[in-house]
Amino acid sequence: MYELFPLSVAQTVRSKQGIKKIFFSQQDGDDFIVQWLNQLFKEAEQVNADNQYITEACTIDTTIPYSMEVPIVGFNSSRFDISLIISQMQCKDWTISNYIGSASTAKQVIVHHKKLNLKVKFVDMLTYLQPMELKQAAKDFGDGYDDRKGLFPYEAFNTDNVNEVLSKSEPFTMEDFNSSLKKTKISEKDYQIYLEDAKRFKNRWDYLQFYNEQDTYIMIKPLMTLISLQFKYKIDMFSFMSMAACSNAIKYAKAYEDFNINGIYPNFDDNSQKFYLTENYWQSKVKGYLSQDKHKKRDTTNNVQDNDFDYFKQLFKVSNCSICGCKFTFDNKPTLDRIDNSKGHSKDNVLPCCLYCNCFCSDKDKNIGKLFIQLRKYCMIRCLPTNLTDIDVYHLIRKWITGGLSNVMHRVNRSGIDFIKRLYYNKEAKKVTVLTTDHRITHVVGVDFNSLYPSVMSSEPHKFIKYTGGKMYMCGSQTGKIMGDNDHSKQTILRIINSNKRFTQEGRLFIAEVKGHIQEDYLNDFINFPPILRNYEFTTDERTIGSYMFNHMKDNKIKT
Ligand SMILES: [Zn+2]
Repeated sequence: MYELFPLSVAQTVRSKQGIKKIFFSQQDGDDFIVQWLNQLFKEAEQVNADNQYITEACTIDTTIPYSMEVPIVGFNSSRFDISLIISQMQCKDWTISNYIGSASTAKQVIVHHKKLNLKVKFVDMLTYLQPMELKQAAKDFGDGYDDRKGLFPYEAFNTDNVNEVLSKSEPFTMEDFNSSLKKTKISEKDYQIYLEDAKRFKNRWDYLQFYNEQDTYIMIKPLMTLISLQFKYKIDMFSFMSMAACSNAIKYAKAYEDFNINGIYPNFDDNSQKFYLTENYWQSKVKGYLSQDKHKKRDTTNNVQDNDFDYFKQLFKVSNCSICGCKFTFDNKPTLDRIDNSKGHSKDNVLPCCLYCNCFCSDKDKNIGKLFIQLRKYCMIRCLPTNLTDIDVYHLIRKWITGGLSNVMHRVNRSGIDFIKRLYYNKEAKKVTVLTTDHRITHVVGVDFNSLYPSVMSSEPHKFIKYTGGKMYMCGSQTGKIMGDNDHSKQTILRIINSNKRFTQEGRLFIAEVKGHIQEDYLNDFINFPPILRNYEFTTDERTIGSYMFNHMKDNKIKT
């Protein structure tokens, strides 16, 4: 039996001031973890100060508040390391303000220092990587692997003799490095490297410090690589808690890449005539504004009048919406937006504006209101995803979204060597078997996961996508719903299906619910179309699927 106890803690701080290493161990006292956390908050305070937005006069810009948690990154720390320090994360000076994960795995822990009003966020670097060793991460994501990870004989001492063993000045012996936990021994070459390193230190405690600090130091380069991979898209990696979430953020960053808050994004589907002001319309507006202002108890002495008609007729003719820049039409009539919300509809306090923009912004901050309006318009024009608002459409789509377990079989197909295989349905035996044809594979036309999914997600063009202009589009917005329950609607549906534009960029994408049935005699004409096998019930006992697949499913805990 082994009892594990914290022996030391090391940290490398990267800030504007440069790189700094911190180390605490049992030699500093039993409360060395708390001492370290105290130091950690001091360093975080500096990092936080460095991150503030600065005005031209070099003072902190209070108009752009910045209060992000300072990330503290461990390597494979979410299970083991965090559990050794979690009890010290709650005390009179600081407290856990957010914990995400399970009892055994802390995916993210945010600790709030009450006096400094500062938050730090403990995360695991493996959140952003495939499961791998630190050494491998340093090699793959560092620059050229010049930062060596050393070795330390953790099993050469125990709680009773730790100080005695580590205070010795002579180096550890080769046997000290034997690990019964990992069942490993040190190689002669690695031991010689260790002996060289050890010469530089007064005793083994000092070597421990060097070893621990080096272990955190070699995380810096790979971390910076990962951060900049995401930051290229203006994404803060530490705001997300998985690789998938980061990829998703990149997808949206790409989709909204050339968004401009001052861009002109015309209203979707507005083909109505350009707006011109009539006297009747103006008079009703004047009346409306007056009662609105009176109701809100605003000063109405300088309010717009019936005789301002010519002025506003001209103004509406020559100007566009002051918020979104759109033209005024009969489907998008102008209204008057008050510049100063505390004042009424006086001539010098109003700007022409769409009804939608005016209502949406109402008493909100103008810039934030404008941002939302422009994002929405950009989204409509680019056919980017929006929420469904029609419950029937939701059910129609949801019904055919299948998820859950999937079993992916990898088969190596070598060009010019392997033969193309086909599925064949044997009517008599009522069985599907795989046939090897006489034809050899010449090309690989698509690699699942690796190239097709990103195409779907980003709408990046790819020549393999033969239709819709070489792009796979993300779902955009619902533009309509047609029930094929009468002749007229059936004609409309057929027009969309048979449209010449269907496989061009102007083609309309649609979801059609159809019933399919293939008579048994014709099954072999269709069996090689994978979608036909959707929602197919498989018998998965050993007799049917063979022992190889059966054991594969069992080994991977897939229900058989
Ligand atoms: Zn507008």
